[in-house]
Amino acid sequence: MTMDTDIIQIKDKRFAVSIAEADILKEVDRVAALINHDLKGKNPLFLCVLNGSFMFASDLMKRISIPCEVSFVKLASYQGVSSTGVIKEIIGLNEDITGRTVVIVEDIVDTGLTMQRLLESLGTRRPKEIHIATLLVKPDKLKVDLDIEYAAMQIPNEFIVGYGLDYDGFGRNYKDIYTVINED
Ligand code: 5GP
Repeated sequence: MTMDTDIIQIKDKRFAVSIAEADILKEVDRVAALINHDLKGKNPLFLCVLNGSFMFASDLMKRISIPCEVSFVKLASYQGVSSTGVIKEIIGLNEDITGRTVVIVEDIVDTGLTMQRLLESLGTRRPKEIHIATLLVKPDKLKVDLDIEYAAMQIPNEFIVGYGLDYDGFGRNYKDIYTVINED
């Protein structure tokens, strides 16, 4: 890697490389091997959550060698009439997941509320089982009890971009993960 890509500027924030692509891919290899082992014969349906998971999903799926299906969903947020405020609705799910082994592929689990909501919503469609695969987890921020079986990496409670993750729409295209530089 050249020095000039170690620090990037996106809008008002600067970011420094914190996890290089080669290190990310080592962990993606590890998670893929676990999934290949655990879900063999189950014909899983991988549901990749756009936009953030697109790079992880691509690298992960290239390493999955068992028969499987891959599909993509988006979560649309809207202000619902509910005590929890923002509700996230799954859009683009065309598959019938009844009786299926489903693997959710996410970019990052922060508070875990998004994942919890996703599990609840998918759960009503009567899948056989749901597994969670995520590139990143921020354990210090996790507010809900989730069984995250396939987490590639754990990171501290800092804002990151790159490898699919954005800051205000930018930064998704970088191959490495960058952490925000606290300028104060
Ligand atoms: P949660 O519901 O777990 O609190 O939030 C999950 C979502 O928040 C992720 O899917 C992602 O879109 C966003 N998110 C959480 N932490 C970060 C971060 O450090 N960087 C970026 N770019 N997005 C994040």
